Amino acid sequence: MFFTIRPYERKIFELIRDTAQELEYPVYAVGGYVRDRLLGRDSKDLDIVCVGNGIKLAQQLATKLRPIPRLVVYKRFGTAMIRHNGLEIEFVGARKESYRSDSRKPSVEEGTLEDDQNRRDFTINALAVSLNIENYGEIIDPFGGLYHLETKTIKTPLDPGRTFSDDPLRMLRAIRFANQLDFIIEPNTYEALSVFKNRMDIISMERITGEMMKIMATPKPSIGFKLLFDTGILNTFFPELVRLQGVEVRDGIGHKDNFYHTLEVLDNVCAVSDNIWLRWAALLHDIAKPPTKRFNQKSGWTFHGHEALGGIMVPKIFKRLKLPLDHKMKYVQKLVRLHLRPISLTKENITDSAIRRLLFDAGEDLEDLMTLCKADITSKNYEKKQRYIRNFELVHQKLEELEEKDRIRNWQPPITGEIIMNTFKIPPGRAVGVLKTAIREAILDGVIPNNYDEAFAFLVKKAAEMGYEV
Ligand code: ATP
Repeated sequence: MFFTIRPYERKIFELIRDTAQELEYPVYAVGGYVRDRLLGRDSKDLDIVCVGNGIKLAQQLATKLRPIPRLVVYKRFGTAMIRHNGLEIEFVGARKESYRSDSRKPSVEEGTLEDDQNRRDFTINALAVSLNIENYGEIIDPFGGLYHLETKTIKTPLDPGRTFSDDPLRMLRAIRFANQLDFIIEPNTYEALSVFKNRMDIISMERITGEMMKIMATPKPSIGFKLLFDTGILNTFFPELVRLQGVEVRDGIGHKDNFYHTLEVLDNVCAVSDNIWLRWAALLHDIAKPPTKRFNQKSGWTFHGHEALGGIMVPKIFKRLKLPLDHKMKYVQKLVRLHLRPISLTKENITDSAIRRLLFDAGEDLEDLMTLCKADITSKNYEKKQRYIRNFELVHQKLEELEEKDRIRNWQPPITGEIIMNTFKIPPGRAVGVLKTAIREAILDGVIPNNYDEAFAFLVKKAAEMGYEV
């Protein structure tokens, strides 16, 4: 079968062909680019393999391109990269790999195209397109990759156990591709995932998280997480998530399975938002349910304080997973901490002060918090679900009305610490904090209106009670 070369590819492919011919190197396009193009997906990363010196091929090609591109050479890997017309083209000599048991980094020697295809992770990633004059455009498919593209199957080219044991990152890649492309994992390949799961211990956390991020970016990450769970791989790097799974029954009373609930919430968020950190908040929103689970004769199962403990767990999990510990973590932490607030408002009287407090605490992340909360309504009971959604809409509407009136979001109380210190001639210290908090609380509770004069009058009164005079 032949690869349909698109007009925008023609010129660069022909230049690669001619340059490789001058050097007498057989040359091929391989890997993800070929796979994605055959799937009708756009790809910007083109991998070129030659039987020869990849860096030399890139250098010689670069002199023929206009404008002459900058060549980035990675000597240690024997590769070179050129950016041209929106493509990132990487050149490498065909190689043969052999592995040791304690590392996923192989020792490498020069090899043939066949060696190079053998070292690839999946049949669909082992397809090569010849760029040689005698069979230009022909697809070289030694492992049935074309058939597997058609049947939407992930399968390793060689023995799956060997493939996964050599480089266990491939196990995560199998699951990620299955999720991303909506493919199934062929039974023997799938079986090997469970058998070799403990090989995960030689992979760095950064690599694991890199794949997890790609799973999180798919439209339905629950598919990937279920595969990770069912194969036992999830437990090797994310035991807190695994602990969410299961239903305990006492006195005939059960609770929902928090793992599958979490995945449903995650998918719900993904259906309405591409914000990766909001997705992480969904994944972690109930993470502290297992350690806070209690059984009570009267009220059944409770998870009191799971939102607060969840907030405490977020930085620890981010640190272990090598996720950023900056404002993104703080954002996830905040959403986890607040995720019950809008719903709990529906149960009590929705007072203005409760709404004001929520506006203040959520600030600029209010919309995202509401998205998470709505996604969290997963009851199987239709009536109950409709009731929750109606209540939720009511809270939403109230939030908007009150924000319109009071402008509490991104709000700073009208009296600063500096004003307090100057007014009473006091140094920085506890008393300043107490007075500041008292003013903020009084405004949020609606005891005084949100303006300078009333707040100042309140301050003077409060300070007098504490023994400070103007
Ligand atoms: P994506 O860009 O979505 O990560 P990709 O398949 O293009 O997908 P790359 O990491 O760019 O992934 O790898 C390019 C090619 O290199 C793959 O298609 C595959 O043939 C090969 N490859 C990458 N990683 C591995 C691995 N760990 N083991 C074997 N082959 C691999």
